[in-house]
Amino acid sequence: MKNHLSDRINSMSTSATLAMAAKARELKNEGKDIIGLSLGEPDFNIPDFIKEAAKQAIDQNYSSYSPVDGYADLKQAIANKFKRDNGLTYGLNQIVVSTGAKQSLANIAMVMLNDGDEVILPAPYWVSYSDIVKLAEGVPVEVPTSIDTDFKMTPEQLEKAITPKTKMIWFSSPCNPSGSVYNQKELEGLATVLKKHPNIFIVSDEIYEHINFIGGHVSIANIDGMYDRTITVNGVSKAFAMTGWRIGYIGGPEWVAKACNKFQGQITSGANSIAQRATIAALDAPISSIKFMIDEFHKRRDIVLELLGEIKGFNLNVPEGAFYVFPDISSFFGKTLNGTLINNASDFALYLLEKANVATVTGEAFGNDNCIRISYAASEKELREAIARIKAVV
Ligand code: PMP
Ligand code: GLU
Repeated sequence: MKNHLSDRINSMSTSATLAMAAKARELKNEGKDIIGLSLGEPDFNIPDFIKEAAKQAIDQNYSSYSPVDGYADLKQAIANKFKRDNGLTYGLNQIVVSTGAKQSLANIAMVMLNDGDEVILPAPYWVSYSDIVKLAEGVPVEVPTSIDTDFKMTPEQLEKAITPKTKMIWFSSPCNPSGSVYNQKELEGLATVLKKHPNIFIVSDEIYEHINFIGGHVSIANIDGMYDRTITVNGVSKAFAMTGWRIGYIGGPEWVAKACNKFQGQITSGANSIAQRATIAALDAPISSIKFMIDEFHKRRDIVLELLGEIKGFNLNVPEGAFYVFPDISSFFGKTLNGTLINNASDFALYLLEKANVATVTGEAFGNDNCIRISYAASEKELREAIARIKAVV
């Protein structure tokens, strides 16, 4: 049958993280003993006090449409959180609550980009950035980084990537997929370049800010001269294990927030009302209430680094945040493992799935085809077993 779909959807890639998770689920349902390390999703239960707030919201009949940009008292809790954790002052008219940080990002792209506007993406970048940018008719400009610079973009690289068409730069810190964390000095270096180009805006995706093993998360909006040109993106999926509840938010210039509100008003309306109420409880709680998760991720990171480090051919950086490792496995390219020729990272990820029954994600999806991403948001037992299996097949 003729393809009647739009060029827009035909040219879009399927989210590689979600696709791999679906494939792993399918194989599991067929009875295969798959260990899924493909999806970036905390494996903890939502803390009880957040569940209680959701139950109360149901009983208090929070069942109508909320304001498009979120309940005012949730926006106040977000403003308080920005002040407390990031030293950032955002008024309520600068904040928009959305259905996950993913929607926040899509809103930004749709309201900021015109046909042909370039968006600099330090690679590796989170899988959905490039397709969201393309959906809004922007042009992703990848700036490749490597393990040698801990997968961070240098000011020189940024400078070189800027053209008269550059509209924005999008990045995450802590980074999905590399786990790299930009420190104050590194962000200042990037800001020095951006100061020479006043028309470039920044999307700072800080959804992993609390999952940081070195302490001292820095928001680029806090660097001198950057506040008015930064849109800070965050959400509760990672820090509070609330992935399915779908709440993300932005803080940024009022004109951006107003446009996101207008756009969202025509596409989805306000985010889920019960989840919004629960988010107030999450954000009002002291960070100490989620420390147990961060400590656990830290412990697992060390175990994973140690065990993967014993496998010849895995070249690793030390991720300072998030819950991923991003080993460079390019030393396997051109080699035949148990009869399977490995030409690239996708071949390698597929090989691990088929021969070790371990689901990972190819680095290609993140703009780096020398690496694979392994999520360690899984139990220690599963991680040990998965890595033992990987070791056995490579
Ligand atoms: N940004 C990054 C870097 C992510 O890893 C994710 C993971 N889902 C998101 C944004 C989107 O988060 P959510 O839509 O669940 O809030
Ligand atoms: N952010 C997670 C990941 O990178 C969740 C999946 C997704 O939203 O794509 O695996």
